Amino acid sequence: MKQGISGYTRLAGVIANPIKHSLSPMIHNYGYQQTGVDAVYLAFEVERQDFLQTLETVKLFNMLGVNISMPYKKQAYDACDTVSEVAALIGNVNTIVQKKGQLIGYNTDGLGFIESLKEKDVSIEGKSLMILGAGGAARAIICQCALLGTKEINVFKRKNETYKQQEIELQEIARKTQTMIVLHDFNDDDKRNQVIEKSDIIVNATQLGMGEDDRMPFDDFSKVTKQHVLVDLIYHPLETRWLKKANDKGIKTINGLGMLVHQGALAFNLMTQKDLPVKSLLQDIEQLMEKKKEN
Ligand code: NAP
Repeated sequence: MKQGISGYTRLAGVIANPIKHSLSPMIHNYGYQQTGVDAVYLAFEVERQDFLQTLETVKLFNMLGVNISMPYKKQAYDACDTVSEVAALIGNVNTIVQKKGQLIGYNTDGLGFIESLKEKDVSIEGKSLMILGAGGAARAIICQCALLGTKEINVFKRKNETYKQQEIELQEIARKTQTMIVLHDFNDDDKRNQVIEKSDIIVNATQLGMGEDDRMPFDDFSKVTKQHVLVDLIYHPLETRWLKKANDKGIKTINGLGMLVHQGALAFNLMTQKDLPVKSLLQDIEQLMEKKKEN
């Protein structure tokens, strides 16, 4: 008989707002079924004023742990008893493991990104990385890649009210990791083309191209060659217009689904010490998304 929910079943979940669209419950519950972990994983849409109380509940209910998404990653970091090296560098957490009332914080986004590249035979070690966007996902990738041996990271961001502060913070990460990290104006076309020429991996970490938005982070591909790998963190759609343009030119591309599943697999492992079967899960989600597109 298949095991059902019992008095021994543990609870885990994701805390964010909004969160109902999240694929995390599907990823973790799939993992529990495949690896025989007696647990259930739910999505908790929590208001800002209730966030800290929710973390207390994680301890009270002896939960395996929780994933944290926007807008609570920084608040969660502040509430943890200890955090991993990369989470400390980023300044936020996306995974909390609960052990005997202690909250241990991690950030698996950057490693998820690196694993998704590895799966396609792309390594970040010794490479020159170009990142379009400097938000939460970009920052996690920058910190993890800097810690794991990327040679140089060029970041492009709009010259708005947060530019100066971002520049200071990136310089601090560069100093701590002894990696060359430089911030540039997103709208400086000449600089962008100069940087493309010396980059190995180009990453879109903006929302440009997500869902119904058919904009591209840049559309001048004159300096993009088959030596480059283009990565779009977006997974809805699986092939953005930007990736399609690169695919049509025969350039290697990677979408954001691998990063999503790998960051989830890393969080799953931290909470359960089991390995989530990533390959079959990726295939299932891809099929599901293709089906949705057809309907
Ligand atoms: P975020 O913190 O809001 O950062 C978004 C970044 O995009 C900011 O740097 C912002 O620029 C830039 N941006 C937004 N609109 C822009 C525009 N019109 N022109 C130029 N730059 C623009 O978001 P995030 O959490 O980092 O997510 C970024 C992307 O990664 C999203 O598409 C998200 O879906 C994807 N993502 C994927 C995964 C995955 O597992 N595959 C995980 C996390 C995120 P300013 O700094 O100038 O405001």
